[in-house]
Amino acid sequence: MAGSDTDVIGALRELLGAENVVTGTDALAPFETDWRGLVRHPAIAAVTPRDTAAVAATVSACRAQGVAVVPQGGKTGMVAGGVPAPGRRQVVLSLSRLDRIRAIDTVNDSITVDAGCILQNVQDAAAAADRMLPLRLASEGSCQIGGTIATNAGGTQVVAYGSMRHLVLGLEVVLPDGRIWDGLRGLRKDNTGVDLKQLFIGSEGTLGIVTGACLTLLPRPGGQVAALVALPSVEAAIAAFVAIRHPLWTVLTSIELFSDDGLRLVLDHVPGARAPFASPSAYYALIELSVHTGDAAPARETLEEAIAGLIEDGTVTDAIMAESETQRLAFWRLRESVSEAERAAGGSLKHDVAVPISALARFIGEVHGIVERVAPGARPNIFGHVGDGSLHVNIRPPEGVALRDFARDGAVTRAIEDAVMAFGGSISAEHGIGQTKPDSLPRQKSEVELALMRTLKAALDPLDLLNPGKLLPKSGIDAIDTGETPQKA
Ligand SMILES: Cc1cc2nc3c(=O)[nH]c(=O)nc-3n(C[C@H](O)[C@H](O)[C@H](O)COP(=O)(O)OP(=O)(O)OC[C@H]3O[C@@H](n4cnc5c(N)ncnc54)[C@H](O)[C@@H]3O)c2cc1C
Repeated sequence: MAGSDTDVIGALRELLGAENVVTGTDALAPFETDWRGLVRHPAIAAVTPRDTAAVAATVSACRAQGVAVVPQGGKTGMVAGGVPAPGRRQVVLSLSRLDRIRAIDTVNDSITVDAGCILQNVQDAAAAADRMLPLRLASEGSCQIGGTIATNAGGTQVVAYGSMRHLVLGLEVVLPDGRIWDGLRGLRKDNTGVDLKQLFIGSEGTLGIVTGACLTLLPRPGGQVAALVALPSVEAAIAAFVAIRHPLWTVLTSIELFSDDGLRLVLDHVPGARAPFASPSAYYALIELSVHTGDAAPARETLEEAIAGLIEDGTVTDAIMAESETQRLAFWRLRESVSEAERAAGGSLKHDVAVPISALARFIGEVHGIVERVAPGARPNIFGHVGDGSLHVNIRPPEGVALRDFARDGAVTRAIEDAVMAFGGSISAEHGIGQTKPDSLPRQKSEVELALMRTLKAALDPLDLLNPGKLLPKSGIDAIDTGETPQKA
């Protein structure tokens, strides 16, 4: 039975205490607006439950009132997945108060945490136990463990350690009907049927709300070696990666690409950022090695020798080895500030794509061709995780054109997505689909894949109460005859 907004707010206040139920246009603004500031749709309320039982009770109460629930983590997502989509009566459920480190097991090398823990806090807790959680993102000071699981976050060390999916041992999840699934096992082997946790990893809060996670830990690196190299072209960047990857296979943990356009944005908008090289190059790559046991000196020597060879044959035009931790962090600051700097400069049309590494250079050439043909004057800013073929292809509008106007006709995005398909790539390497890309999904997924995704959604959430309007194309859940009627406003 659908209750009025007043009924819903009353029920939630009774359940969680009035102080944990946010209402009113101004107070709700931060819960309703996405990181990029492009999307805002109304919620009846935002709630901040304290623990798993309170999350489950909230989901049940919303279900009883016929109201949808939007799980919200650190709100750093780029596709507006953690804020309301239009067309439904909904409550935002922020996980931010589920912020306890539950246990660290240094024999099992695992850490069990609440889903609302900030990623950096979990990294710090692991470090305090002389371990490492090897997920690293520029947003790690704000994004939450639950958000990184729901989006299967990648980041700058996937080339060595994989994405979040590879780090999750067990999950605790509140299901759309309010039941709690306790799958918080710290096991590396468990062949007792379907691996249910995989359903929730990367499903963007549409199948369940993650409330706890058991994650794998690794030894902390004893030494890290970083080099910043200047490259005349993207072809050179790929050649450099191919040349170093096998000799340094066991220690290579990052190879990150950014262009001179990206560097200039950082230099213009990030206080204290300094140009690393005397003269500009088309691209730069940040290479990092992490040595877990023993001395880092041999790895450094191998990298230096490899770079010397690349300078000799013209692949690399200049290089700087970090001589201190401060310099290593300064290199990372240049790379990791590109998104923030771009936002400060007015934002861009974002595409977060993957193509096979062997196709990267041709793909980037195609993107430049598309921009010249479809949007002359627009400014590409291409950067990302070249070691796993994942790139942020951001297109800034021509000088003097507002981002919203530039984005409106969609021609650039369509052409870039066409190119991604032609190269056998993915239209979302990292950020997910959220509410900004569902209509592109049918271009990527076959009818069979879409039908399977819809079947799963219908089986777990037949009323479409969890994060509606996200991930599946509009026809998604509505296209299934579940025998139950979705309750829409
Ligand atoms: C500067 C910057 C750099 C970034 N770099 C990277 C990068 O290198 N790699 C990368 O992969 N991403 C990157 N991102 C994107 C973003 O940080 C990740 O997608 C992150 O995983 C989102 O986590 P969050 O807690 O902020 O989630 P939110 O943005 O709050 O939510 C994201 C999605 O997860 C769902 N969700 C959140 N919490 C839960 C939960 N507990 N249970 C179920 N569903 C939930 C939401 O409903 C939404 O669909 C970057 C973002 C920024 C701003």
